[in-house]
Amino acid sequence: MKKVFILMGAGISAESGLKTFRDANGLWENFKVEDVASIEGFEKNPKQVHEFYNMLRPQMDKALPNAAHIAIADFEKRADISLYLVTQNVDLLHEKAGSKNVRHMHGRIDETVCLKCGHVIKTPEKSAFDDVCDKCGAKGYLKPNIVFFGEMPMFMDEIENELKSCDVFVAVGTSGVVYPAAGFVQEAKYYGAETYLFNLEYIENNYYFDHQILGKASETLPAFLQKL
Ligand code: NAD
Repeated sequence: MKKVFILMGAGISAESGLKTFRDANGLWENFKVEDVASIEGFEKNPKQVHEFYNMLRPQMDKALPNAAHIAIADFEKRADISLYLVTQNVDLLHEKAGSKNVRHMHGRIDETVCLKCGHVIKTPEKSAFDDVCDKCGAKGYLKPNIVFFGEMPMFMDEIENELKSCDVFVAVGTSGVVYPAAGFVQEAKYYGAETYLFNLEYIENNYYFDHQILGKASETLPAFLQKL
């Protein structure tokens, strides 16, 4: 059975109306990335960080999956393929498209974590830093369950193993700037996978992608997955 590793970036969600931040000079929905997506930004102003994700959540709730998300959900159902799907996105568009197994390596918009006891809470409509953790009762420890710059992404041990054993590695809508995800292609190639990038722009001087397919992922990805 062919083992396929797919790594998704913010580009796939752009076609569902959610902004990437690298395409807008380091701004994400008009906020500075370092203010709302770094651990230093959170330590400086946790209230603002909670407000930012409270503002983003309804936008993400409303967004609908596009043809690329749907093609991946269909691909997962194939009996001749074993798919390992990792997304850097915090939205839930894969789940909305019907994907059953999605690893959110940078966390999820619908979760809050208690920094005191590690308990993960389903976020009600809004979260606030000084809400009380419903497990340990601590106040002033809640953080959106989103991996910020300066924190370790999730599922890294499992991801390492999958990179070593996949036959095909596919990255979609990712600029290759945010590590460690940007280094996954190198590892997959080193262990023998055939490697593909589906992106709007060509990434110069990247020797690890065997193929770079330019265009909108909703137009290029479905036909490729059908042929694989
Ligand atoms: P990124 O590094 O993944 O860059 C986006 C890439 O997608 C660009 O190279 C662009 O050319 C490409 N792209 C844009 N539209 C495309 C399309 N229709 N088809 C194919 N490619 C397309 O993303 P980023 O914006 O730099 O974000 C980095 C991190 O920020 C992410 O890893 C994520 O954790 C977080 N983020 C998440 C979301 C979300 O959850 N929707 C949105 C923005 C940022």
